[in-house]
Amino acid sequence: MSGGRPRVVAVDGPAAAGKGTLARRLAAELGLPYLDTGLLYRAVGRRVLDRGADPRDAAAAVAEARTLTAADLLRDDLRGPQADMAASAVAAIPEVRAALLDWQRDFGRAHGAVMDGRDIGTVIFPDAPAKLFVTASLEARARRRFAELQARGVAADLAQVESEMRARDAQDAGRSAAPMKPAEDAVLLDTTELGIEQAFALALTLVRERLVQA
Ligand code: C5P
Repeated sequence: MSGGRPRVVAVDGPAAAGKGTLARRLAAELGLPYLDTGLLYRAVGRRVLDRGADPRDAAAAVAEARTLTAADLLRDDLRGPQADMAASAVAAIPEVRAALLDWQRDFGRAHGAVMDGRDIGTVIFPDAPAKLFVTASLEARARRRFAELQARGVAADLAQVESEMRARDAQDAGRSAAPMKPAEDAVLLDTTELGIEQAFALALTLVRERLVQA
């Protein structure tokens, strides 16, 4: 804590821009807990699908969000195109976001944290001392996600990965509840032309500068 403000590093941005890798490494380097907030929405979406309901059904999604448990976040079926779109659909429902708000704030307030998501710097911790918005071109992000799927032995089509990513970006940025956008005081980090080591070195420098000033 500094001046009563939790030592939170907000790492927001679209899918496959590198924010998860950067946030995890920043957390390890800074000795802070790490939270991938996308997992919360993924787990809610998956539970709605388990019930045979539509992830856009607000009543079904809110019921699952209110009863989410830590064990749900450990499920091994939270990745993949179906989970991606279910997460994005439940995430557009304001009551779902409200149900997950306190849990995220409590996590960050307990010991500080590096948290990655879409709205950490704008809604969850608007007073976070350090905020990054990590982005990259759609083509670069689709190629990365495609390579990840191939490495996991999942059959995929690059054009389809790209079109699903475009649809999810549009849904996340276009929703009225906590749309994905950079906070006014976020530093933009475009990783299109950067390797992971370069991106990490830059992110660490930016975050350290801000934590020192806080
Ligand atoms: O980051 P990840 O791709 O795992 O997030 C899955 C989905 O969860 C996103 O497409 C977005 O709709 C939602 N999300 C969100 N706010 C966050 C984190 C994720 O709306 N803080």
